Amino acid sequence: MGDFDQIDSERLYRHVIELQGVKHPVVSPDALNACADRIAKAMANSGLRVREQRFRVDGFDLDFRNIEGSLGPVDTEASAVLVAHYDTVATTMGANDDATGIAAMLEIARTLAALPSPLPVYFVAVSLEEENPAIWAAERKHARTLGLVDDDTNYMSWSDAKAAAKAKAAAQAAFRGGLAYGEAWQKVLAEGAETIPPALRTLFEAMLPFYEGVTTATAPGYLSRIGSHQWVRSALAEGRRIAFNITLDEIGTCSHEEGSQGKLGGIDLYPLFADSHRVDRERRIADFLLVLADANSGAVGKALMAKARSPGIDLPTAFVHTPMNFQELAKAVPMALNSDHANFWKEGIPSLFLFDSSTGRNHFCHSMADDIRAVDFDHVRGIARAVASLIADRASWPDRL
Ligand SMILES: [Zn+2]
Repeated sequence: MGDFDQIDSERLYRHVIELQGVKHPVVSPDALNACADRIAKAMANSGLRVREQRFRVDGFDLDFRNIEGSLGPVDTEASAVLVAHYDTVATTMGANDDATGIAAMLEIARTLAALPSPLPVYFVAVSLEEENPAIWAAERKHARTLGLVDDDTNYMSWSDAKAAAKAKAAAQAAFRGGLAYGEAWQKVLAEGAETIPPALRTLFEAMLPFYEGVTTATAPGYLSRIGSHQWVRSALAEGRRIAFNITLDEIGTCSHEEGSQGKLGGIDLYPLFADSHRVDRERRIADFLLVLADANSGAVGKALMAKARSPGIDLPTAFVHTPMNFQELAKAVPMALNSDHANFWKEGIPSLFLFDSSTGRNHFCHSMADDIRAVDFDHVRGIARAVASLIADRASWPDRL
């Protein structure tokens, strides 16, 4: 199985130099496509079979592409699936979110492809994790028509910016609290009758048809997390067997400063750790990988913890193993469904979400400050080695045969 020391920080760094930049379906579709081409080429250069899945989103006239590389006997055996997304929001370099995930995936693929008889693995670079381009474009169009925003979607006035942020936060809170998304917005509009400026109100009302009937359980694949939804759906329809998934999304923020690990969405993470390796709980140092598993994903989570502890890797790692499944999480902790792993959990497939706790330690997510200077490539290297080591070890896979 090896120690995977051929996965090095320099290669990861060079991938992210190439991959970073705004790759948004509406403001920079050419960059999004160029990135897909680049990923496909890197996969082919490593000796993977490369396939492309094209899909569409209702109300938006453009093809989107998931790039899938594969190794080993994926047609006859249950396969591991590694996922990272290559699209970004419109306002970021996306170095950490999620060029780090794609870079790690490409290096893991390269090293696993070099093994004498590779196990069955899919490497899927998905598009449209961040948002639905039809909804985004409609909101921008209405906001422009109403004179609320400039060409870069900056609100033209501070009072509108403040009111919009407040309304969006309130709608998100009501949504997470159990209301359907449309109802959450209706509530915000009703309660803000006097405080939401008229033009903003017109904008939010115009967006309501997009939110009708959307719940925290149906949001993955519609509001966001769209490419992975498409991939899982078609893989299952084709009768492919999936042993487990690992999703890498924002894995590069790391700090060695005392107090650098904060709460995530108001939740203190430390009491949730089912297991951890080299995590400094006292001084709250944000230098560990966070691994999230649902009820069905405990076995693969434990297997990854064992790899994190192994002498050749020795990666600070914390493991959160919730006893809830997808439907229960959608009701109780929808924040736990915030990346592509959600679409695997939804189908009862074991899946781990690997991340750096996002806003739990990094306040610049989705901003232009998410550039390569803020990524710790030695940390990313440790994560890539742990994941490669797990995938290469058939005995540690959860048994779904
Ligand atoms: Zn992301």
